[in-house]
Amino acid sequence: MNILVLGAGQLARMMSLEGAPLNLNVRAYDVGSKKIIHPLTLEDFNQTLEQAISLVDVITSEFEHIPDDVLTLCCQSGKFYPGKAAIKTGGDRSIEKALLDTTGVPSAPYKLITEKQHLLDAVPLLGLPLVIKTCQAGYDGKGQWRLKSLEQLDSVWDEMAGFIASGTQTLPHTIIAEKMIPFDREVSVIGVRDKSGNVKTYPVTENQHTNGVLTLSLAAAMDDNIQQQAIDAFNKLAASMDYVGVLAIEFFEVAGTLMVNEIAPRVHNSGHWTQQGTACSQFENHLRAVSGLPMGDTGIQKPSVMINVLGQASISTQVLEIADVKSHWYGKEQKVGRKMGHINVSAENNLALGKKLAQLADILPEHDYPGVRSMAERLLQS
Ligand code: ATP
Ligand code: MG
Repeated sequence: MNILVLGAGQLARMMSLEGAPLNLNVRAYDVGSKKIIHPLTLEDFNQTLEQAISLVDVITSEFEHIPDDVLTLCCQSGKFYPGKAAIKTGGDRSIEKALLDTTGVPSAPYKLITEKQHLLDAVPLLGLPLVIKTCQAGYDGKGQWRLKSLEQLDSVWDEMAGFIASGTQTLPHTIIAEKMIPFDREVSVIGVRDKSGNVKTYPVTENQHTNGVLTLSLAAAMDDNIQQQAIDAFNKLAASMDYVGVLAIEFFEVAGTLMVNEIAPRVHNSGHWTQQGTACSQFENHLRAVSGLPMGDTGIQKPSVMINVLGQASISTQVLEIADVKSHWYGKEQKVGRKMGHINVSAENNLALGKKLAQLADILPEHDYPGVRSMAERLLQS
């Protein structure tokens, strides 16, 4: 079976790697160059998007910032999962918030902003500091501002006004202000839904961000109550979109209660540990669901940690001397802070996982890999 993935980054690459054993052959549409390429070899198929759409059996996506006309073409083929509406929801925070409101799934209180008065109104409504985000353009914490005091309001507004003005009719730029949530931690749930509406979820993952970018995820035993809240939110949101494929939901945990931060209609960085900690990874399960194959087991086999490699062209090969440590490179050109790859590590239990992380922390500098040492210490004490 041939599958076209919209987007030609690391997520398409990892889908390609995991699809091959199932005889699911992935080609990718590079939205920038408009070329159809092989996500691993980067070989050019010399096809137009229209040709690729008619040749493949299934179409899916690895990211949400895809031009509207491309989404429409894909939808018209009847082969596209999870569909245009779901991609639009993940790609626009105002649509996402509307979905959260109508499904009654709690999320950070917010106000949409199109003029200065809205920002002035948001301050007494939501309090300071305010988290301000672009609705359509952000990723990895980019496209965000923090309004900490009223004195900053004019200068922050000037930047926002410039951003809003740079939008066009086909691609409007809008802004949302959110209450700053004093979370205890951030977690996410990744699940998969098939064409008949059956759902399987992976165990809730704890995520650590540094400067707005995911640096480390832990998948280990998780409080039942948190797990249940995440599954409930997943079921409601996935059903309301009649979703097919893997869907990720990021949450803030505040005093034992989950509040949605955002929804990603795709495989997600916080689920990369599933390549090693489960029998069927998020990449494989996504391909299975969109292709109409039975979904694989999402249970955790071993507690696992995923460490992002940000901006580093290489890592010491010493890490590969540790059992059950694997590196996954994305084949990308090095740039400061860029997601270049990730490291997965798993072990029989939390204590053994802590020991391996302590070994990794001796090899990986804290500055480039924040939180590895502290996670090791935490697991060693558990
Ligand atoms: P990505 O797509 O990589 O997940 P993003 O650019 O879409 O990131 P968000 O997930 O919305 O951005 O925000 C990035 C991080 O900023 C969050 O993981 C969280 O740490 C912090 N953050 C965002 N919104 C809030 C909020 N309302 N209150 C507190 N912290 C927040
Ligand atoms: Mg996020």
